[in-house]
This record gives sequence, structure tokens and C-alpha cells, in this order.
Amino acid sequence: MAQKVAVIGAGPGGLYAAKTAAALGMRVTVFEKKRIGEQIFCAEGFVDILKLLTPPAAGVCFPVKEVVLSALDTFLVDCSRLHLWMLDRQTWQQSLAQEAAAAGCELREQHPVSVAGLKRLSAQFDWVIDASGVNPVAEKAFGLPPVRKAVTAQYTLEGDFSRLAGRLKVAVDHRVCGYGWIFPKGPLLANVGIGWFGRRPPKRRLKEELDAYLEREGLASYKVVKKAGGPIPILPRKPLVVGNTLLIGDAAGFGSPLHGGGIDTACISGILAAQAIAAGEPKEYVKNVGKLILPRLRLEAKVLKLWEQSDIKTLNNYVRSAFPRNGGELPAWRRILAPEALILRAVLGGQLRADWESGIKLGDLPLVPRTVLRKLLEEALNEDY
Ligand SMILES: Cc1cc2nc3c(=O)[nH]c(=O)nc-3n(C[C@H](O)[C@H](O)[C@H](O)COP(=O)(O)OP(=O)(O)OC[C@H]3O[C@@H](n4cnc5c(N)ncnc54)[C@H](O)[C@@H]3O)c2cc1C
Repeated sequence: MAQKVAVIGAGPGGLYAAKTAAALGMRVTVFEKKRIGEQIFCAEGFVDILKLLTPPAAGVCFPVKEVVLSALDTFLVDCSRLHLWMLDRQTWQQSLAQEAAAAGCELREQHPVSVAGLKRLSAQFDWVIDASGVNPVAEKAFGLPPVRKAVTAQYTLEGDFSRLAGRLKVAVDHRVCGYGWIFPKGPLLANVGIGWFGRRPPKRRLKEELDAYLEREGLASYKVVKKAGGPIPILPRKPLVVGNTLLIGDAAGFGSPLHGGGIDTACISGILAAQAIAAGEPKEYVKNVGKLILPRLRLEAKVLKLWEQSDIKTLNNYVRSAFPRNGGELPAWRRILAPEALILRAVLGGQLRADWESGIKLGDLPLVPRTVLRKLLEEALNEDY
């Protein structure tokens, strides 16, 4: 008889888990507390850094070819080799839900799962996948410790964004240990926000930082059509499996410590969780997360640590080392002195690849001294997270 799976939450992670589990022959019920795609707090830039997912079939505003990256100087980063799209997440998630329903999943919207509800589900179903986001039901139900979180504030603004056509803008600033972003969804609408990823000095209010960022970018007079923001989990949880419950996506703490993106890791962890339970081996989930997701997050956590310790001038130098403004080759001494910049270059340049079967490979990095990169990767892998 087919195994029964309950999925809590119909965000990207829950929907990927649901459709994968259904395709693998399981009977899947998804419980979503709102309507699908109803309340999304996100800048809606979707980067599949490891190139493991199929491109989104719906909801793409545009593929991103360039990112304007500013520190003290401004750099134009070629992202054409990245899998990076600007999304309308509502449309995308609704289409994922249709795919899940077509694969046989039962979708129960406006059906919040409480702590007692999770316990009932874990008795009634063979498996439960908790994809309920940054404050997951499983945290309370099983008394799991909270994870480290970045904080963000965001407005969706109406106004003229045509100067950024086809591009995203990211601004590293000395006022925040994090960055500001302008992610246009079209010429007249953009998600504009600010995120704080490092240690936070007392008495700093992010909403005030966001208003000041709008002033600096000349956007203060634009119309605010939505206020969003909120926490992003940036430290993977332990344990990821409790009894017959598997935690995925934000519920598992898989947000990027460097930039806060978590859509890709939510989808990938959803697939891995469904595959592991189809094989009856939840330990496989932990093992494959350790191969495909954690090495990248550890590397990014190392870059964040460096970021926390650096002033804006040093940061500007790292970025300058990673992206020479004339687009030319890097001198050898720079390559060796700024390995973190090289990682940034590898990540943003789309040169970091994963191999689904055998785990992470660093791909071809023609400018990178492999010994340096390998040493960093080894360090990151051995570090106690
Ligand atoms: C301001 C901001 C900007 C961001 N920008 C980006 C970005 O540009 N790119 C990127 O990759 N990531 C971004 N992120 C992070 C990204 O939004 C998350 O990492 C991603 O949504 C995680 O997907 P998920 O499926 O794990 O969780 P979610 O997308 O949070 O989905 C969880 C779902 O569970 C439902 N739910 C919650 N509790 C219950 C319950 N008790 N019962 C039933 N259902 C429940 C929720 O309604 C929701 O539908 C941003 C986050 C923030 C806060």
C-alpha cells in the first residue's frame, strides 16, 4: 500500500516535496494555513546557484543578465551564466500547486497545523514533512532550539525603475552588516529592501535604515504598495529529522548566510526529503543535505564572518579583486590575497557547480588557484557548524 505523507506549508519547499513524493508513488496531503501564494515576504530573485533545478515554468518576470553591485565603487557583474530569474512568486507557486495536484496531491488551503495538530499528523501519516517556514511548527512541537536569523525590512514600490531594465541592484553599505537591494519586477514595480546578516549593534532599527536607503537611492517619493520583511534563518538546524518528521527549507534553517536567498535550498531539500522517505531511509536525507546544501552554506558563512570583520574599504577591495572594473585578468597576487573574493566571483559568475550523483564539485575555475579554494572548502567542511 502507498505510504501516506503530510506536508505542512505550501511554499516552494513544501510544493517541491509534495510533487516529488507524489511522483514517487506516495499519497500526499498538503496543509497550508493561507491560500497558496497569498502572503509572500520575499524580494523574488530566484538563483539556483548549483544548477540542480529545472527553470521555473511560470511566473518569470525576466532572466537576470547583470547585477549592479555597489560598495564604495560600483561594479556591473555579468550573471548570464547563472540560473537567476526575477519571479512573481505568487504565479510560480500557484503553478507548482497545479503540478502537485495533477500528480495526485490533495491540497488543503486555509488549514493551519497547530503543535497538537503536528502530533496528530505524525500518528496518522507514515511521514510528515515540515515546510512551514522560518518559525516551524516542529520547533515548538519538539522543543527544538531556535536558529540564528538575519533580519530584513522591505517595501514593494511603484515608480520608474526602467533604468534597471533586466538588472538587479545590490548595495553593500558601511551602515549595515548586510546589504540593500532593488529587485524590479518590471519597469514600474520593484521590491526594495535591506537585510542585516551580521551581529547587530543595539538600538539600530531596520525600518529607519530602509527609509534612509530609499533616500540614498532617490526612491523616497515612490509609492509604497506593500510592506514586508521579516527574519531569515541562516543556520542549519540540528536535528533535521525528529521521529517521522523531516524539516526542509526555511524550517530547516537553510537560508543563505551571505545573501538570505532560500528558495533554491527549499526546493532542493524538498526533493531530497521526498526521495529519502520513498526509499524508507530518512538518514539519506541528512546525508544528501550534507553533500548538496551544507558545503555551500558553510562557505557562505565563512564569507559572512569575513564581512563582519571588515570595514567598507576592505569590502570594496574584495569586490574590486573579484570583479576588475576593466573586465581584465586578475594579477596573481590578488588572486592569492583575496580568496573570499574568488569564492564570490565563482558563485556570482556561475562557476560553482554541483554534481547530483557524487556531491559538490567546484567546476572549472580558470582564474582560481585550486589549492587555496580546496583548502578553504576543506576548512569549511571540517568546521563545527
Ligand atoms: C524580505 C525577504 C526577502 C527575501 N528575498 C529572497 C530572494 O530574493 N530570493 C530567495 O531565494 N529567497 C529570499 N528570501 C527567503 C525566502 O523567502 C525563503 O527562504 C523561502 O520562501 C523558503 O521557502 P519555504 O518553502 O521553506 O518556506 P515559506 O516560503 O516561508 O513557506 C512556508 C509556508 O508554510 C505556511 N505555513 C506556515 N505555518 C503554517 C502552519 N502552522 N500550518 C500550515 N501552513 C503553514 C506558510 O503560509 C507558507 O505558505 C527572502 C526572505 C525575506 C524575509
